[in-house]
Amino acid sequence: MQEILSIRGLSKSYKNIRAIQNLDLQILEGQAYGILGPNGSGKTTTLSIVMGIIRQEGGHFSWFGEKPVAGQRRSIGSLIETPHFYPYLNLERNLRIICDIKGMPYGDIGRVLETAQLTERKRSRFSTLSLGMKQRLGIAAALLGDPRVLVLDEPTNGLDPEGIAEVREIVLQQVQQGKTLILASHILSEVEKICSHVAILKKGELLANGPVKELLAEDEIIEISCNNNDQLKSALKGSSLVKEIETENGVLILTLNEKVEPAEINSFAFDKKLVVHHMLSRKRSLESQFLELVKEES
Ligand code: ATP
Repeated sequence: MQEILSIRGLSKSYKNIRAIQNLDLQILEGQAYGILGPNGSGKTTTLSIVMGIIRQEGGHFSWFGEKPVAGQRRSIGSLIETPHFYPYLNLERNLRIICDIKGMPYGDIGRVLETAQLTERKRSRFSTLSLGMKQRLGIAAALLGDPRVLVLDEPTNGLDPEGIAEVREIVLQQVQQGKTLILASHILSEVEKICSHVAILKKGELLANGPVKELLAEDEIIEISCNNNDQLKSALKGSSLVKEIETENGVLILTLNEKVEPAEINSFAFDKKLVVHHMLSRKRSLESQFLELVKEES
């Protein structure tokens, strides 16, 4: 999988406030990557740096494996902060202005309005839209030119449940079509519903990152390998011990069924005369503590 965004040792302070400290992150093609953290944890600062809106003090980042250059922007659609549109112009006219600024033809406007479910309102003035529609127009603008990557900062902020669901639908559709998504959010459930991967920030520091189902799942996940992984895998498939089995770098990743203890897997393998030489629980206490914190704040 191609590297989309790589961040190494990124730091930024505002006077005496450290917004982000020594941040490392790698996002690969096709991932839906959530940046999750409470208010003030540095999400907007991080996205603003990688989008070239503000400059970092330390560290560096690259897009598509290359140093950041202006031409890459065409492959990245973003919605950071509240989008600015002309209130007295209709949606189509507003999007034409964005096309002019980006040097894009108008041909894509119909498609993005359709994607954002705004075709029927294309002749309405921006000022007459609901908050949810305004936010969807912001996403439509980010989708102009069909970029490979979509960067969204809290796209459902301030929306009612219906508005949240509509935005989520549009974003999920983009992910399913293969776009890489980078989504900042302080809402755990939003990240769980949309993202495949998550980085958890607290006071500008990366607390944990990895696949959502490993970090956010309540399930016990263990990695295991033995003298015959294939045999163990097929034996476990026929058992009631595991919910899911995946193979990662020659190691089996097991999602245990409720109330199954890791020791039961060990004795199951032993009964099958398999010799386990590696077994590790992926639950980490620090992460679960922070997840509690995020849950409380959202
Ligand atoms: P939120 O969801 O509330 O926007 P966030 O996780 O996106 O939070 P940032 O907006 O990146 O966090 O803010 C990180 C820290 O930097 C916070 O303490 C914030 O108060 C501070 N900060 C952000 N922008 C500025 C600024 N322009 N001047 C001074 N301090 C700032």
